[in-house]
Amino acid sequence: MITSARPQIAESASRSRWNRARLRLIVPIGVIAAVAVACLLIAVLTSARRANEVSLTREQQLVQQEIVARGARVLREVESVAGTPGATQAIRVEYDRPWIEHHLGNWLEAFFDHDLVVVVDGTNGVEYARSRISGDVGSTDLPTGLSSVLDLLRGRLTNPPSHAMSILAAEDPRGNGRSVALIEHFLDRPAIVAAVAVGSDKDLAHGNENAPVVVSVKYIDDNVLRDIGARLQLPGLRIVDDPAHSANPQVTALTDAQGAAIAHFAWQPTRLGGQIAGSLLPFVAIAIAGFALLAGLVMRYIRHTAETISAGETQLRHLALHDPVCGLPNRIYFGERLETVIGEVRRGGPSAAVFYIDLDHFKDVNDTLGHHIGDELILNVTQRLSRVMRGDDLVARLGGDEFAIITACASDSYSLQAIAGRIISAVCAPYAISGHNINIGASIGIAVIDRRAGDAADILRYADMALYRAKSEGRNRACIYDAAMDADLSQRKLLEGDLLHAIRNDGLAAAYQPIVNASGDTMVGVEALARWTHPTAGVISPAVFIPIAEHSGLIVELGEWMLRRACLEGRNWPGLTVAVNVSPLQFRRSDFVDVVERVLRETEFDANRLELELTESTLLGNMETAELSMLRLKAIGVRFALDDFGTGYSSLLYLRRFPFDKLKIDSSFVLSIETAPDAAAIVHAVVSLGRGLGMRVTAEGVENAEQHLFLRAAGVHSMQGYRFGRPGPAADITARMASPDDYRVDNPDQEVALAS
Ligand code: C2E
Ligand code: CA
Ligand code: CA
Repeated sequence: MITSARPQIAESASRSRWNRARLRLIVPIGVIAAVAVACLLIAVLTSARRANEVSLTREQQLVQQEIVARGARVLREVESVAGTPGATQAIRVEYDRPWIEHHLGNWLEAFFDHDLVVVVDGTNGVEYARSRISGDVGSTDLPTGLSSVLDLLRGRLTNPPSHAMSILAAEDPRGNGRSVALIEHFLDRPAIVAAVAVGSDKDLAHGNENAPVVVSVKYIDDNVLRDIGARLQLPGLRIVDDPAHSANPQVTALTDAQGAAIAHFAWQPTRLGGQIAGSLLPFVAIAIAGFALLAGLVMRYIRHTAETISAGETQLRHLALHDPVCGLPNRIYFGERLETVIGEVRRGGPSAAVFYIDLDHFKDVNDTLGHHIGDELILNVTQRLSRVMRGDDLVARLGGDEFAIITACASDSYSLQAIAGRIISAVCAPYAISGHNINIGASIGIAVIDRRAGDAADILRYADMALYRAKSEGRNRACIYDAAMDADLSQRKLLEGDLLHAIRNDGLAAAYQPIVNASGDTMVGVEALARWTHPTAGVISPAVFIPIAEHSGLIVELGEWMLRRACLEGRNWPGLTVAVNVSPLQFRRSDFVDVVERVLRETEFDANRLELELTESTLLGNMETAELSMLRLKAIGVRFALDDFGTGYSSLLYLRRFPFDKLKIDSSFVLSIETAPDAAAIVHAVVSLGRGLGMRVTAEGVENAEQHLFLRAAGVHSMQGYRFGRPGPAADITARMASPDDYRVDNPDQEVALAS
């Protein structure tokens, strides 16, 4: 159903608004937050890696420097013994083996932990050798691996040997000619090999070619590395054989002159970067959590705002498109939907129709019982219409008492009238609201929407024309628009112009219908009725031109013209009451009383003989001013009759509240006296009611003796109808006054008796 589809539309609108908000705000915020977090992480990780690299390089340098420094220390240790005058004496001057054993070999081994001590003579022949590790020195031959250090010391090599690393290489590859140290493989193990020439400065002034040399070897073993590791705070510093398969990436190589590795060292890295990252990460995590929390809060806020706005919009849209009283779609919504349906039908969809419904007497209810009852009534009508129509029909309230329905249906008149019939019987069934029993009617104009349909305005105009026709044909009817109605409309427009011309140029006339006493033998008054003979169309019935005049507002001028005319002509009929019809539009004008007074003054007509006929609808809506106007006119003698009693809302309220002098029972009641069983009872009741309120009662439309007899018996004071005289020119009334006997009706008793 169209109306129930609204909440879904609203819901999806709210969802899409939320989606839009998410796209416009939350996505950018999320992206910024994510990028910021990513940058932060990358910064932390990069700096951690960089710190790792820096610390690795630093540690590698430290390890190498420390090993080189160790080499220099070993050299200094050897020098501290071999460079003494005692050593020169014991080795060079006179060979003193005990001294050498005690002060050199034992000393270097015990105090400085050297692994091998050898003393060679000027021709590199071994004079003394002491080794901690058995097997290092097997004979008196120079152990292989020591020749290169001796060659370097003795100046036979200009550069350090290719397989070794010179400790003093940076300063002087040959040392000072007195000493040199290398790091090289000695017996397949990395070792520091130091050689010191023995002799005083004078001895060595011309080189060390033939000088004895003390050579000492110290392996770079676990003890040395543990010591270095402890100094450098590099736990686990050790030699690894195959760096490629080492689990530890922290490896450095000690390389020889050719760049080949003498030894690989590994240790547990400090991983400064890891420490930095480790100390930063909790803060990063807190920042990320903060971002996430912030984004969450912003999202929640935006979502909440979007929902609030959306709910407000939905509500506003609903208010803009629905009737506040009954909740039905309003005119705007109806117009939009009508356009859509017309479009669908034009594209080949099933035909549809607009039912334009006008409630009769709704205004009466509103004015007499109050707006709350009126609203309640509208709600009831809404429920009934919704029940009668199908779910996919659109029921809308266009205004006060106007409803409209769009329904897809067969476009033949039989089906349309069947639907209209259902609507009318639903709406016309009595309503019980707050203890009031309310009856209203409905007129319906129908316009079919087919493939040739015009736009929404056209369709509405057609439905309106059909409604006008339905109303003018009598209430509780439905009319289907046809092209002839367009012609009617233009005809009406033409007539309107002609009527205006007639009013202004005395083209109208007044006819007078006698009103007689109960027995019918005496004329007591006349009713003035407007007559119009069109110059070309001939006589036009008041039933045609009065509605046109009312619709166009011409009735005000017409009414004044008739009043003046009736007063002028009525002057000739002393003793007769002259009744003039007053239309609601005329009566409601603020100058109405002044106009009547002026006409009376100008025509010098006796106000006591003027009777104004009002209908119930004349009094609606402005009860206070209506009462005041009536009272002002009554004060100068004018009388009032309530016309057409029984056709309108017929509330007792009117009779009680307003100072009417007379009640005119509508001709439809009189007509039904013989046919409808309860009409007679109603007429009785109305007569006694009027009498009870001190009013006189006139019956209209009395055509035959039976009606006359019945009404007289019921106690009606006066009568009007063809039985007593048709409306005619003023001259007829004058003639009738001159010779009343010519117009006397027969005694109804005799007539009825004769007929039966
Ligand atoms: P109404 O005021 O109820 O006038 C009585 C109508 O009943 C007149 O119709 C009259 O010719 C008709 N009539 C009288 N006796 C009989 C009868 O025995 N049988 C039948 N079938 N009809 C009878 P008319 O003159 O056609 O006027 C129709 C309505 O036009 C009037 O109804 C009144 O409402 C309105 N009207 C006429 N003249 C004026 C006028 O000057 N001003 C205003 N505001 N309305 C007028
Ligand atoms: Ca009348
Ligand atoms: Ca009447």
